[in-house]
Amino acid sequence: MSTVSVPSSLCRYHIWTIGCQMNKADSDRLESALIQLGLSPVESPKDADVIVLNSCVVRQAAEDKVVGMLTSLKPLKSKTPERVIALMGCMVGPKTDALQSRFPYVDVFMRPQDYKPLLRLLGGRLGVDAEGCLGALTPPNASVTAFIPIIHGCDKFCTFCIIPYRRGREVSRPLADIVHEAELLAARGVKEVTLLGQNGDSYGHDLPGAPDLADLLTAVHGVAGLQRVRFLTSHPNDMSQRIIGAVASLPKVCEHFNLPFQAGDDDVLQVMRRGYTRDDYLRLVERIRERVPGVSLSTDLIVGFPGETEAAFQRSLDLVREVEFDKVHVAAYSTRPGTIASRQMEDDVPWAEKKRRLEEVEALQEQVLTRINARLLGQSVEVLVEELQTNKRLAASGSDVVLDLLNGGGSAKKWKGRNRNDKLVFFEDGRDLVGQTVRVRIEKTSPWSLQGVCVG
Ligand code: SF4
Repeated sequence: MSTVSVPSSLCRYHIWTIGCQMNKADSDRLESALIQLGLSPVESPKDADVIVLNSCVVRQAAEDKVVGMLTSLKPLKSKTPERVIALMGCMVGPKTDALQSRFPYVDVFMRPQDYKPLLRLLGGRLGVDAEGCLGALTPPNASVTAFIPIIHGCDKFCTFCIIPYRRGREVSRPLADIVHEAELLAARGVKEVTLLGQNGDSYGHDLPGAPDLADLLTAVHGVAGLQRVRFLTSHPNDMSQRIIGAVASLPKVCEHFNLPFQAGDDDVLQVMRRGYTRDDYLRLVERIRERVPGVSLSTDLIVGFPGETEAAFQRSLDLVREVEFDKVHVAAYSTRPGTIASRQMEDDVPWAEKKRRLEEVEALQEQVLTRINARLLGQSVEVLVEELQTNKRLAASGSDVVLDLLNGGGSAKKWKGRNRNDKLVFFEDGRDLVGQTVRVRIEKTSPWSLQGVCVG
């Protein structure tokens, strides 16, 4: 990768990212561009000549963090006005006037995936056509696993969600571009790619010939060197039998579906404008389990949506109990300005009640996971080894299983990987195993991870 020679006042960058994997993938691509322009990463914004905040506004808590970060950068900018500060991501809508008057010290505002304003500014300072001199924007630090965005935006307009307004309508990347990116990553040693989209399963409808996610999975499955392919996220209404069939029949495609249900009550689903009923969702789960034995399911759930009664909440809880998901991302509803819900609905569930419902879901899910993970005891599972674990990292995870591994002491290396169902697996082994696929017999389970010994 050739780089541009840069003046010393413009040679270090820091990217801070919050939010979903799409944001992480966007940051990785911007990072690739900055490295190609000759800049180097630094750990702290204080040491950076270019600071990028990649923002998320899906929840109030995330937006508060972005505002906190932006505010903390103001003194840095006053001290060194030549420093470049850029705000990227879902906080930036089509109009930036309000943001500009609130944060006048920010130099550049960029919508998701739109790196051009920053690249042009840097190109101007460097005296080059920044966009013209860039090669492929593949993640610079991709190791064993990498994300590949396949479709941007969303056409669904769920009433609680800001994403369609910020990321725009669905635009699929050409299939050949995605396969080429997968080939570049595989050539750099990546073993697993996750195909990313807000609605990954609606991939392709806007492309000539309308290839679908099944076609894309088949094409990426053919990339030599890759061992695993995953995809994230799916909308229940776009999950076709063809896609389910592709997961069932392509050996590299892992048996895992992320299928947000958001609410277990039909009235709430209707006001959310999700476009399916509880029964539709349960029938889809049944079809997936019939066709893909051993599949794992993760989901997203909102509690305390406007009008959610205790009985409606109990139906969400019942659904969590009935389906036995392998992961539930549960969030307490918060009004997002600009959404349909913010204009038309009263946020009428008190915060304390939302918190109670959230904790109830988490407690139930812990019981579910304790039960379903215990079924893996004594089984041998396929694990792609992702990284060596330091004691500090192990301790930070806080899981019983991991602490047990930590307390075990010994000099053997401690490894972290995931099985095909996306469950974290830890084990000890003296060999260097990063990027290897091994079999691990599970000897201990907790709700959040598994521990075992390598058996081959
Ligand atoms: S499907 Fe709904 S929740 Fe998901 S990104 Fe689109 S609008 Fe948001």
